[in-house]
Order: sequence, then structure tokens, then C-alpha cells
Amino acid sequence: MKHLRPYIRESKHSQTLLIHQLSQERAAGGEEVFRFGFGQSPFPVPRQVRDALADSAHRKEYMSVQGHPPLREAIASFHNNMEHKNWRAEQIVVGAGSKILIYCVLAAFQEAQVLLPAPSWVSYEPQARLAGHKVNWLVTTYDNQWRLTPEQLDKFCCSRADPAPPLVLVFNYPSNPTGQTYSRGQLQQLAEVMRKHDIVVIADEIYSLLSYDHDHATLDEFYPEGCIVSSGISKWCGAGGWRLGFVRIPDSFGKEFFQAVLGIASETYSCAPSPIQLAATCAYGDHSLARSYLDKQIECLDEVSQFCSDTLRRAGVDVHPAQGGFYLFPAFDGFRKGLAARGIGTGEELTNALLANTGVALLPGSAFGMPAESLTARLAFVDFDGEQIMNAGADKPTFPRVEQGIAGMCAWLSELT
Ligand code: PLP
Repeated sequence: MKHLRPYIRESKHSQTLLIHQLSQERAAGGEEVFRFGFGQSPFPVPRQVRDALADSAHRKEYMSVQGHPPLREAIASFHNNMEHKNWRAEQIVVGAGSKILIYCVLAAFQEAQVLLPAPSWVSYEPQARLAGHKVNWLVTTYDNQWRLTPEQLDKFCCSRADPAPPLVLVFNYPSNPTGQTYSRGQLQQLAEVMRKHDIVVIADEIYSLLSYDHDHATLDEFYPEGCIVSSGISKWCGAGGWRLGFVRIPDSFGKEFFQAVLGIASETYSCAPSPIQLAATCAYGDHSLARSYLDKQIECLDEVSQFCSDTLRRAGVDVHPAQGGFYLFPAFDGFRKGLAARGIGTGEELTNALLANTGVALLPGSAFGMPAESLTARLAFVDFDGEQIMNAGADKPTFPRVEQGIAGMCAWLSELT
């Protein structure tokens, strides 16, 4: 169709959809598919939270745009308790997922220059462009554990051609797609550069509660005046499809900015679904339930991540074990020659070949802002039965499909060298 916005038409989602379509075709033909392409929590929503949702099904009224006050209270006290934040309920805006709220924050700026470390989650760039902003990618490296460095950020800010538009950095840790996070020292150094250049940071902490060391370091601590945190129940509570998230906007942004975000929320989604807000109040309200549920998930995810990264490393793949969340970001540069001999020179060609030859579905690094020729991919190690693992008591978690998929990848790679 004519007159479509180019960044919607040519969206990177096409790569996600292509892998999805190819996976479906394979599965329909009776062939095995290892679903490492989609990053959905494999764990069930805790029973108490599901019950709370069932009990709230009759609540059909609109709630306030900003969010149900007891939910905002519960979110603030949950994060203050679990992550040593210093939040107040009135600083929080609840929405139908943190994704739409990241968009609302971006759209509150008339004009901005949006900085994205590459690789970053697929939706930031289209959101920034939809909001009418320029986007700059800051490409990170395997050697730096896919982390943005203070020097890199400072260099970019010092050299930009037009210093007028405000700088907005969308900064996600633990990261989708890399599984890496930042230490307190690293965040402190980055915060100095952010302060120097007056950067607005959207700290996407949607995976923070799934930090494997149970001690998520947050930028909020070092750059409180410039840092808007986003999170929600999609990952830690296994409730992605319920669509509930929030942003916490510090007082330093001022009332006008807060009202602008609320105004965009009001004109787009009105309020998060009322029954879901009530169920989320239950999820955020019981800290000890959440703690034991999180501990179990973390133990399992850490084990699966270690298995995958150890096995892939032994096969010659460059990959850092995850520090949180569900993802690994392997780099296949060691196989470049062997891949080239088979006509494979880009990340997309590599993921297509892996799917065709091994049934393993990955997403190419280019879907996350990496250059096309980067032989990287995102591997979501969640093709296992999280419900069974949660119910298995003290039994050791098993994840046979992940083991099979990784073994298939390694066997295929071994033929290349
Ligand atoms: N940010 C990142 C990095 C994600 O991976 C996701 C979900 O995939 C989101 C945000 C969206 O979260 P929500 O379900 O709260 O909109």
C-alpha cells in the first residue's frame, strides 16, 4: 500500500516474522523445530496471582490513567524492598505493558536524538522513529561483553553535529538480546558521562528481577535525576500476554513532563486492563511468594544458560554466559571461512541455514541493530517446560529440547571447520 511510514513497512520485525513463518512451515511438514527465536517466559504465572485475576474478572470499570493507586503503592514498595529503590507511588505510571510506556516517554519529546547500544531490543528503533526522532546506534563488541562503554558514549556525545536536540538513551540490562548486565562500577562510570551530557535515560529493567546473582545493580542509584525506569510483570511473573508494565519518573523531570506522558497514555490506551491491575497488585503485594518463585526461576535459567554457553564454547562459538533473563548472543566469527564456503556471509543467512539444517530457530544480530555481516544471533533458551520445573519440587530441572537443539547446532558447526 502507498503512503505507509517506511520504518513500519521495512520493519526489522520482518526478520522475526520470517523465522516464525519458516519455523511453522517446517513444523507443519513434520520436521523438528527448536524454538530459540522467541523470548517468552516459559514459567507459569503463580497460582495466587491467577486466582486474583479470576476473582477480579467482574471489574469492568475504567481505572485512572496513571494506574490503580494500591497497585502503584505495591509496585513502589516491592522494588524498594527487592532492589533497594527509593520510589513513591505517585512517581509511577502503569500501562498496558512497559512497551507502550517506553513509547509514551519517547513521544513526550517534540524532538530528540535517540541513542541505542547495538545490539538492542527490536522495538526501540521503530518506536523512536514513530515518535519522529533521529536514531543513532552505538555498536558494542563481544570483547566488551556487548556493553556500552563510557568512552564510547562520551565520544559520540562530544562529536555530534547538532547539539540542540536532547539525547535520550534507551538502556536495557540485563539485556535482551545479550543476557549481559552492568556492575555498579560500570554504571557509576556511565552515569558520569550521562550527567556531563545531560542525557535522558530510559533504563529498561524488565529483566532485573531475573538477575542471576540476585543483586541487580541499577543506574537509578548513580543517576537518579536523569533516569526513568521501566519494568512490569511480563518476564519475572511470566505474564507477558497480560500486558501490564510501568515507568517510574523521578521528580526531577518536573510536573509538565509527567503530565505529557500521562496525556499520551490517556489518548492511546486509557488505562491498563482493570482485572489485570488487581491481579498485579497481588503479584507485587506478596514479597516472600515472589522471592521463592524468582529463586526457582533463576536457578533454572542460570543452569540452562550455563549448559548452552559451555557447550557452544567447547564447539568454538564465542558466547558469554547470561547474567540474567533468557538470552545468549553467540558470535560465530570463528566459523566465517567455513560459512563463506557455503555462501553464508550475513547473520540472516546464518540463521536461515541453521533453521534449514538443524531445525534451530534463532534471530540474526541484524534484527537487533548489528551490521548485516555480523555473524551474531540471539538464542532464547526457553524451549522447556517451565510449569513442570516449577512443580517438580527439589528435582533437578530437565530441558531435553534445549540440549537436543544445542547438540544439533554444534554438530552442524563441526562440519564447517
Ligand atoms: N523491553 C524488553 C527488553 C523486552 O524484551 C520486552 C519484551 O519482550 C519488553 C521491553 C516489553 O515488555 P512489556 O511486556 O512490559 O511490554
